[in-house]
Amino acid sequence: MYKSLCTQDLPASVSTAASTPIFTRIQIQTVSWCNRSCPFCPSGKFPVPKTFMAVEVYHRIIDQLAEIHFAGRISPYMMNESLLDRRLPELIAYTREHCPESWIALNTNGDKLNDAIADSLFDAGLNSLDINAYDSTKQYEKYVALAKRLENRRGDLTLRFGYSNPAFNGTNLARSTKLVNCRNMAFWSSEFRAKRGTPDMQNRSGNVPGARCLTSSLPLGCPRPFQQMYINHRGEALLCCNDWRFEVIMGDTATSSLVEIWQNEKYQMYRDNLQRKNRDMKLCKSCDYQAESSDWD
Ligand code: SF4
Ligand code: SF4
Repeated sequence: MYKSLCTQDLPASVSTAASTPIFTRIQIQTVSWCNRSCPFCPSGKFPVPKTFMAVEVYHRIIDQLAEIHFAGRISPYMMNESLLDRRLPELIAYTREHCPESWIALNTNGDKLNDAIADSLFDAGLNSLDINAYDSTKQYEKYVALAKRLENRRGDLTLRFGYSNPAFNGTNLARSTKLVNCRNMAFWSSEFRAKRGTPDMQNRSGNVPGARCLTSSLPLGCPRPFQQMYINHRGEALLCCNDWRFEVIMGDTATSSLVEIWQNEKYQMYRDNLQRKNRDMKLCKSCDYQAESSDWD
């Protein structure tokens, strides 16, 4: 069952130099791109090489998580459309085998989803699948129908609808749990256009054209570097999921373990400043993300 680890709780084989609570979530970018370009998202607004994370790199990251008996959330996608990667069932099976106490979560725009793919993901050990309908209510209804077919046929799924907390780690849920959540996001594009440039729409550190442009850094903290790791398709740890251009690399899993990266000086410098509500650092200085009180766990 899920338990929040501190570095002093780690196995003896893992360095325990600091007492920083260990991350409770990790995103891993197994493919580098998305097939869509929603107006509120940086995807498609600048070129990115279309590439896949090497399987050896994915295994290395999971092996490092296994070493610390990671029991938080593992999301094998980041800044990409997850189902562009047809290897996902194998990658999820590896994750389930090596990190049996983890909560494995996927998010998809649904374009590549069908009953057989959903079955293969859940059979491999997936815990939750969020399906976002960005086009229309009709598309949302199509995804709801798919989810109900799965529920009826499998008998081991629970359906949910609407908002799901991005911090949800499946805490206190058995790792055999399987959830499908359908979300009607068809209004997002028009809402972004209507509220373009206002604080209501996140600017992703300046990576969304037309979103708010800051003239100076906001006097705010941020929970992300205290909670979550973000690994790009090259196996490097990024500061956060706003870093679409890989501007702030915290370390490389090829040369340091996840725990070593999490505890390094660069991470600590970002945390120290954010704790003092100082965002005058690369990436943070152009970011208008405002965490909800529920985001600080
Ligand atoms: S919001 Fe999702 S589906 Fe839309 S472009 Fe971004 S990553 Fe792709
Ligand atoms: S302040 Fe913005 S850029 Fe900095 S860590 Fe938080 S979300 Fe990322």
